[in-house]
Amino acid sequence: MSADKKIILVTGASRGIGAEIALLAGERGWRVGVNYHRSAEAANHVVEQVRRSGGEAVALQADVGKLAEVQRMFRELDEAFGTLDVLVNNAGVLANFRITDVDEDNVRELYEANVFSAYYCAREAVRRMATSRGGRGGAIVNMSSVASRLGGLAGGTAYAGSKGALDSFNLSLAKELGPEGIRVNALRPGLIATDIHAIHGGVAHAQELAKTAVPMGRTGSAREVAEAALWLATEQASYVHGAVLDVAGGR
Ligand code: NAP
Repeated sequence: MSADKKIILVTGASRGIGAEIALLAGERGWRVGVNYHRSAEAANHVVEQVRRSGGEAVALQADVGKLAEVQRMFRELDEAFGTLDVLVNNAGVLANFRITDVDEDNVRELYEANVFSAYYCAREAVRRMATSRGGRGGAIVNMSSVASRLGGLAGGTAYAGSKGALDSFNLSLAKELGPEGIRVNALRPGLIATDIHAIHGGVAHAQELAKTAVPMGRTGSAREVAEAALWLATEQASYVHGAVLDVAGGR
């Protein structure tokens, strides 16, 4: 293994946007930690594809909404590749429930997956990357959503709220980590054609909605979001810090 290869950890990289970020990093010769929760087969497929394209990858199972699992995942990444350079907090779930149907489980599960995960993974990443702790700095990319400023679809209060929390987390974390050599930025994708839309009528419904709701008249692809994520993660974005970049076709 060459020592100058960048090491990136992408949470929720078995499918959708996270998988595309992992694949694109692999094409660029990075070492990639491919986190997944339940989709082992899909994660292993991403790992194989990264290897075929010339990168190195390892599948890392963990529910990133649980601190103990996040700590184990980081130890596994350390052992496989060494200290990471880039964390992409991408894992997330969509939910569709009315406010009258809120219970302790549905809200907690969504916030664990979408928000707590970012705190837990950033905690472990910063303990390794911070220059004040002897690290070499790095970058964190948080996957928010245009739902944070548009409110999402009906039934999306928990999802929209979780992404609003990520926007604020991103801004505040950037203040904390600027002196540590760690750049922190977020992406706000719009309607992107992935499995996440299954609970709202699937990709076909998202494509229909995009015709009128998106100025560009179409859904985006996971690859289009991945390109933006890797730009934020690299030296091409060396003075971009605390920013939130919409990848939403003008929506
Ligand atoms: P997706 O296709 O449904 O994939 C979600 C990924 O997250 C899967 O790899 C899944 O792993 C993983 N995941 C979910 N909960 C997890 C947990 N607790 N621990 C570890 N991994 C977990 O979704 P996507 O569309 O690619 O979305 C990726 C991110 O982009 C999310 O944060 C989402 O909110 C955001 N986003 C998406 C859109 C869009 O239109 N698609 C728009 C705005 C923002 P398993 O399969 O192993 O369970």
